[in-house]
Amino acid sequence: MSEFTTFSALELPEAILRGITELGYDKPTPIQQRAIGPLLAGRDVLGEAQTGTGKTAAFGLPALANIDTTVRGAQLLVVAPTRELAIQVAESIEQMGKFMRGLTVATVYGGAAYGPQIKLLKGGAQVVVGTPGRLMDHINKGTLDLSKLKMSVLDEADEMLNMGFVEDIEFIMESVPKDAQRALFSATMPQQIRKIAQKFLTDSVHVAIEKTQEHKANITQKAWKVTVISKNSALERILETTDYNLALIFVRTRQDTITLSDHLQSKGFKAAGLNGDMNQAQREATVSQLKAGTVRVLVATDVVARGLDVPGVSHVINYDLPNDPESYVHRIGRTGRAGRSGEAILFARPREMHLLRRYERETKGTIEMMEVPTAREMTAYRLEACQKRLADLVANQDLSTMRELVEQMANEGAVDMKDLAAALLFEQQQTRPLFVKDDPKPRREAREVREPRGGDRFDRNARPGKGRNERGAERGSKGPRAAGAAARPAKGRDANIEFDTYRLSVGKDHGARPGDIVGAIANEGNMDSRMIGNIKLHGEHSFVELPKGLPAAIVAKLQRARIRQQPSGMTKV
Ligand code: AMP
Repeated sequence: MSEFTTFSALELPEAILRGITELGYDKPTPIQQRAIGPLLAGRDVLGEAQTGTGKTAAFGLPALANIDTTVRGAQLLVVAPTRELAIQVAESIEQMGKFMRGLTVATVYGGAAYGPQIKLLKGGAQVVVGTPGRLMDHINKGTLDLSKLKMSVLDEADEMLNMGFVEDIEFIMESVPKDAQRALFSATMPQQIRKIAQKFLTDSVHVAIEKTQEHKANITQKAWKVTVISKNSALERILETTDYNLALIFVRTRQDTITLSDHLQSKGFKAAGLNGDMNQAQREATVSQLKAGTVRVLVATDVVARGLDVPGVSHVINYDLPNDPESYVHRIGRTGRAGRSGEAILFARPREMHLLRRYERETKGTIEMMEVPTAREMTAYRLEACQKRLADLVANQDLSTMRELVEQMANEGAVDMKDLAAALLFEQQQTRPLFVKDDPKPRREAREVREPRGGDRFDRNARPGKGRNERGAERGSKGPRAAGAAARPAKGRDANIEFDTYRLSVGKDHGARPGDIVGAIANEGNMDSRMIGNIKLHGEHSFVELPKGLPAAIVAKLQRARIRQQPSGMTKV
């Protein structure tokens, strides 16, 4: 297999070399060094590489070199798992082929109108990049003619399998002409991918980049063991005290991207969620916000994040651990790009700690344990930061008008200036209180400590049925429950509190668990979870006990709160 160290050593058309130069690529990446030669020589290629390694150019450059722009019709077909990836690949190929006269690239994906796509296809686009379902539709409709195809590429094949596209892929590959060259790129090589490769590639060359090359030494890996502090609090504390450019947070489900990003927003972070349920316009808007810096914390699932090429990710936080060590490598590879350093942090529950050694093996790196700041440290941090902000304002901002106002207010209201300053400070710290509530005490050393009530309301991945809340729900017979209801006994609540009962229009049928309710109330009402009494979960509604005489402002806030995406509909009974 011929490898090369400069692009000019390749027999690439002048127009393509110009494109590469304009893109600023001065030397080929390892996957390009290995894949371009065989692809130019007409071989089928099985490429083991992930996004970020330069794999698009690894197949894009040789594919473009083969395209005859005087001929109209699809000559290169790229199948990608998500709209983002399809768009990104198409844009990338368009840039590489910028100086190829007459080159047209069509991007086709679901969720968008057929009309413009058909127009591009009928117009004779030589490069067609698309997602499996929509490509299959176009083939079926006869709007995508593959008879002139020279090369087909399955990009991120493992991800397409994860997303359940196996049949679509098989259909597409069966529609590809026998004599067309084929390439399959995948970040991981599970058995199913090998099978597909065997079925659709002929005498293929397997190119891979060694894990050591993949793993970048400039990524620091850290782990935090989840104990008494909830994952949400830990995340907030890390984000608040860390100097990050862009943080990418990985969660397990689409729903979690929404709940966690909403939560972070409510705490004042510039956060957004990205998931496959969002429509194209929404996803593009998020990506633009990321690029513009108006979003600096992105909460995503593996699937969506894969198709995303956002530069400047300084931190990757594994809020939930991935399903396999290979995905971990993939995730943390989103930072530390282009020679910059990056930090990867993972949250591991005690029972997940054994995975750390596997991640270390896989990355050939070391993961050091870290602590998140305690409540006391956070209080000290906030006080210091606040003092510094105010001192900076005094030093650098013209405050004359404000000073006059303050004097006037003090005189007119006959209030002491110190009291006024204190009131302002009080008001200013409402969303992020200066004094952080004490962390719960570890319960028993040996036992895995469960989240305190009101802790990780979004963490639905905790071992089911074992946390206090869940146990409460399961042992309904011991709690004060009605038939068919799941109750959370009010163990640990303050015995001196008198309660009122409130009805919520959210119940088990909405997927709500006691933890969700406690979490929502504790967070939205800024209330200590010990102030929350019994919870009874029914199908469509539930009951919760809250202290008598709750201030109207808190009640109003709780009425506006959402639990499992449902309006709480809280009313006193
Ligand atoms: P990919 O793995 O194809 O998603 O590429 C990841 C990023 O690397 C993209 O932003 C590419 O533009 C960039 N890239 C690809 N090849 C090279 C190269 N040879 N030199 C520098 N950057 C590259």
